[in-house]
Parts: sequence; structure tokens; C-alpha cells
Amino acid sequence: MGSVQIVTTILAAAITAVAVWLAVRAVSKMVAVIRLGQPDPTRSGDRARRTRTMLAETAGHTRMLRWSVVGAAHWFVMVGFVVLSLLVLEAYFEVVSPTGGLPLVGGWTLYGLVTELIGILGVIGIGVLIAIRLANRPNRAGRRSRFTGSTMWQGYFVEAVVLAVLVMGFLIRGFKVATDHFEYPTWATPLSHAVGALLPAWESGVSVAALVKISISMTWVIVISLNVTMGVAWHRFLAFPNIFFKRKPGGAGSGLGALRPMMSDGKPLDFEEADPEKDQFGVAQVEQFTWKGLLDFSTCTECGRCQSQCPAWNTGKPLSPKLLVLSLRDHAYAKAPYLLAGGGKDLTGEEKATVAQLAHVDVLALAEAEKPLVGDAEAGGVIDPDVLWSCTTCGACVEQCPVDIEHVDHIVDMRRYQVLIESSFPSEAGVMLRNLENKGNPWGAPQNTREDWTKGLEFEVPRVGEVSDFEYLFWVGCAGAFEDRAKKTTRAVATLLNEAGVSFAILGEGETCSGDPARRIGNEFVFQMLAQQNVETLNEAFEGREKAKRKIVATCPHCFNTLGNEYGQLGGEFEVVHHTQLLAHLVSAGRLTPVQPVDGGVTYHDPCYLGRHNRVFTPPREVLGSAIEGGLTEMPRNSERSFCCGAGGARMWMEERIGKRINVDRVEEAMSTGARTVAVGCPFCSTMLTDGVNGKGAGEQVEVVDVASVLLRSVKPAGVGGAEESAPVAG
Ligand code: SF4
Ligand code: SF4
Repeated sequence: MGSVQIVTTILAAAITAVAVWLAVRAVSKMVAVIRLGQPDPTRSGDRARRTRTMLAETAGHTRMLRWSVVGAAHWFVMVGFVVLSLLVLEAYFEVVSPTGGLPLVGGWTLYGLVTELIGILGVIGIGVLIAIRLANRPNRAGRRSRFTGSTMWQGYFVEAVVLAVLVMGFLIRGFKVATDHFEYPTWATPLSHAVGALLPAWESGVSVAALVKISISMTWVIVISLNVTMGVAWHRFLAFPNIFFKRKPGGAGSGLGALRPMMSDGKPLDFEEADPEKDQFGVAQVEQFTWKGLLDFSTCTECGRCQSQCPAWNTGKPLSPKLLVLSLRDHAYAKAPYLLAGGGKDLTGEEKATVAQLAHVDVLALAEAEKPLVGDAEAGGVIDPDVLWSCTTCGACVEQCPVDIEHVDHIVDMRRYQVLIESSFPSEAGVMLRNLENKGNPWGAPQNTREDWTKGLEFEVPRVGEVSDFEYLFWVGCAGAFEDRAKKTTRAVATLLNEAGVSFAILGEGETCSGDPARRIGNEFVFQMLAQQNVETLNEAFEGREKAKRKIVATCPHCFNTLGNEYGQLGGEFEVVHHTQLLAHLVSAGRLTPVQPVDGGVTYHDPCYLGRHNRVFTPPREVLGSAIEGGLTEMPRNSERSFCCGAGGARMWMEERIGKRINVDRVEEAMSTGARTVAVGCPFCSTMLTDGVNGKGAGEQVEVVDVASVLLRSVKPAGVGGAEESAPVAG
């Protein structure tokens, strides 16, 4: 070993020792913070499936690749990182000896070839990511940049390190080529040989370059260890457990569809016995999120994909799902020293720690602990109420997140505490909640008018009880029963079912609100009350039937989601379909025949709770395809990336005071297609988009109408049974 190698070896060992010590300390701290969260025993079942999903999403980049260029570039960088780790390990042999290399595999030409290729593709990949970050930097694109609010220096730092380490790898190889210590053939390692041709035959160049490479890598370890909230770096490790422990073990859509039940100490809360002084009602302190919630916050990469799709953010509201997650993460880690010292408030608001326990806690951590989780700027809150109440629960953030963060669950958990304990929510929604409690529907309409929509139809609509051998229970929903526009859809669906010879029955006055708006606003108590009543009614209606024969068809995606995905939590197991699914089936089976194509151009707006939350994208398009002339004209944002109408998450019953109206934004997009008909599959979307069209003064030119009504116009062009359909038909 020469004198240069003695120095490089000592320096490499020293910086590595410091880095490892800091990394161990950082990992211990992160584990301790995540363990502060509440228990969640639902996260570890079906390990084989979880492992498969984790491998598919990480190694296969199944979610990232939906953003094709970024996804492909990121894949090469990820693979490059794994290979880089081997090359960094190899550098430890090279600081000791210029001829050193990895034992065993180091001598294989295949190893030389693979590392060369990955190195080249890694340089290209990181170059693309750097270019994308620069092109989208917030000071150029402002709010439109998905990086607005991200900690930019961290992104640049991580990318620069990756690039530098890759370049150093080729320099080391180049010096080996120049000094004739390189064992791989030129065909397998062309770039290394090309670099070698430019370098001097400096024997110690290999060891010095290896030291630089180790130093850069260990500096990265030191920097991220000193910044445990640096998600852009830590996600390389945390993405694996975060994906493994996601709510639904398989595939896409975890954190969509059903909401988590309200949990206290790892168990669903039973409202008959619940006591707010003993049981946790929602989340009022950051440590009241589950450990998975805290793992979610730690894993955020700050990529901003969620932000770029969020309807609230895109219409100038203060909510960005990314910034919400970052605020919760920074607050959790800043408060952690206080919590780890034994601090925290019990459910009555009393401090748990003794004065002695808190004596050595940093004042900044003590100050952080005093911040309310939800509160305005004056109160020093972590999450502003305007942020919390701007969410439509559309799920675009959850859908886009590459590391499967479950934003909607966290938002609703915070809403639950605000509503149930603080009674703090937008006042205009109070009327809706009172109506739900007193009248069983958000409009406060008399229950005995639930069947008024059947008046004037040319056939009898049977009620459950009058008939028992019905195939489908037609769940009408509150909008479908009381709201004029939605009543047309209800009548159209009933007419089509009757036309196709489907035997169905309604609950009529036995139906009450599914509870969706109560649950999404955070009033779990009212949701449970309504849902239990409905589950009881439905179980009675289907008495003696196995689950496969307990079939329900719903026209409202919110009811469809709640009945199909959430009533199981209360003992109600049903086979629920959306009317567009059933109609698509009836058309393809030849039981409904469109005869007159509807013209004028049709576009389709995917309702969030039908599309993203339940992945029903194709059936409505099939129905429309069968009934319209020419193809469907898609909006730029469609299917998984559809843009919300603004009504979900109980936003339908709240004023939209900040920014541009979401429905107007969506209507502008729909109108830009030139279509005269905007087809929808949800009564709330119908209301929001119709209001938007009217607001633009385009009510005469553009019509918003349900998919069922479009089909009815084509199946029965002259209109039927008082369905009030005046169809623009071809010819
Ligand atoms: S659910 Fe929708 S509105 Fe709410 S934060 Fe996510 S993207 Fe934004
Ligand atoms: S998409 Fe996920 S990882 Fe990316 S910023 Fe949003 S929450 Fe963080």
C-alpha cells in the first residue's frame, strides 16, 4: 500500500464511521417518532399479497410509469442507486489498492457490462429528472409547478449527488483503463474505455477518485441523517414499508373507496359505548394519527404529483395535499422531543408528563407542542381550517401518489375531531346535518314524498314488501328522490330497467340517506345512525338470500360507494352496481337496443366516487358509445385523472368562497371539447356542472345530462312515460 493509499484509506474510514453513526441515530429517531402513532392492527394481513404489491410498485414502478417519461427516468435512477451501492462498496477496495475490485462478481464481464449500462442509463435518467425539476421550478411556473412548496435545495442536492457518484464511477474506471488495470473488454464497457483514453496513466488516480466518490456518498448519508424530514432522500428506504403496509394490500386504489372506520386504540369505535374522555374521537394531536399515518408523512418525496391534480389547489384554494402532508410531517418531528420525553395531552386535555420529565426538553419542541393541529394563523395552527374544509375527498391525490400515502383518511380523521368534539365546521353545512338527523335526507324534504318521482310513469314501480322475487333493489338515493334534475335520471333508469325486463323494487319511504355526506364531513355519529338503519332495512329486504343475490343498483356514486364498500363495516354485505354498469350489461346482452343515435357531440365527466374511488371507467363509456353518433369526445383530464366537479366530501353543502369555482373550471374544460352534451353519472356532478354551464351563460348551447338519459333518448327517441326527455337526435 503506497502513501496515497494510506491517506485515502484513513479518510474513507473516518468519513464512513461518522456517516454510519449519524445514520443509525437518524433511523432510531425516525422509528421512535413513527412508534408514537396509535396502533393499527389492520396493516399486516395477507403478507404474500402485500409483498407482491410492494415489489410490483417499487421494482416494476407500476404507479410511477403512469407518468411515462418521469417514471422511466426514475426507474433507471432507482436501479442505478442499487447498482451504485455496489460500486460504492467497490470503491472501498479501490481506496486501498488501485487494482482493487469487488471479490467474486468483480471479475465477471457480465458485471462490468451491466454496471456500465446501468451507469449510462442512470446518468441519462438523472439528467432528465434534473431538467424536469429545472423546467418546473416554482419561481418560473408559480402555483402551476408541482414543486411549489417543495424544499428545492434538497431535490437539487440529491440529484447532484446521484449524478456526481455516477460520473466518479466512470472516472475510476477510466483511471483503471489508463493504467492498464481494467479487466473488462471494450465492447462491454465502451464509455469507461473512452474516458480512460482521455486520462493520464496516474496510478493513484483510482484511489483518489474512489475517495472522492466515497466522500460524496457519505456526505449524502450525513446530510440526510441530519435532516430526517428529507423525504426526497428517505423515500428510497421508506417507500418499501409504506407500500407494504398500505390499507388495501393489493394493487391500486388503497386509501380510496371506503373510509377507515373511526378508531380508538386500534379498535373501531362503538358509538353506543363511546366516551370522548376515554376514547379518541378523530385526530386532535399529531400523535393521534396511527403509526402508518406518521410513516406516510415521513415517506412523502415532495414530488407534488398530488398537488398537480388537486382540484382545490388548481382553483386557487389554500389546500395542497402535498403541503398538508409536509406540515404534518414537520410538526410531528418538531414536537417529537416533547412526546418522547413523556409529554402529551390525555383525552381530557391534561398534560401527561411531570415537570421533571419536561425539564430538559428543547423550548422549540415545547412551543411546537402548544400549536393546535387545526387552527388559523392567529391561533398558530398547523393546518388552517380553510385547508381542511377545501377538500372534496376526490381522491386524486391518493390516486397519484407514487408511495401510496392515504391523504383522504388523514383529512377526514382531522374533520371528525373538529365536527364531533369542537363543533367547528362551515356553518352552512349545519343545515344539511340537521336535516339528516331529523328528516333522513340532506334537503329536509318530507319522507312521504320519496316516491313522488314515480308519478306519471307508464308502469308500476314495485316496492319491496309488495314483491319479494325482485332481482335488483333499486336504491334511489336522496337526490334521485327529491332533486328535480336527478329525478329525471331516476325515471330514465326505471324506464330502461322496465324496458329490459329487469325485475326490480324500491324501498320507497323505507329508504333514508346512505350517510355519505355525514361521513365525509366528519360526523361519524350521524353516519352510523343512518347506516345502521339502512343496513337493518336492507338485511330485512334481502332476508334469506346469499350475498350474490343481494343485488342493489344505485344511480348515485356516493350511495354506490357507501353501500358497497362501507356498509360491510356494519354488517351489511351487498352486491352493489352503479346504473351505468347494469345498463352496459343490458345493452351488450341485447336487452336494450339503441335505435336512434344521439348527435351534437358528447363528452363524459367521470364522477370521482364512480371512477377513481371505484374504478368504474369503462361501462359509462360503453353505454354512451352505443347511443351516440360518432365517438365520445374525451376531456383532457379524464378517467383516473378526471377533475372533480367540486361537490364531494360534503362540499356540495358548503359555500365555495376562495379561488375559482371548481365546477366552472371543469365546465370550461368540457366546453372546450365543443360537445353539446356533457354526460355524467352522478346527481351531484349533474347539479354542479349544470350550475357551471348556466353560470357561463351557455345553458342554451350545452346540456348536462345523465348517461341513462342519453341511452333512453336513443332507445326510446320519442321520450317515454313522463321522462321529460327532449332528445337532440340524429337525422
Ligand atoms: S382528495 Fe382531492 S381535493 Fe382533497 S386533497 Fe386530495 S386531491 Fe385535493
Ligand atoms: S404525491 Fe405523494 S409523495 Fe408526492 S408530494 Fe404528494 S404526498 Fe408526497
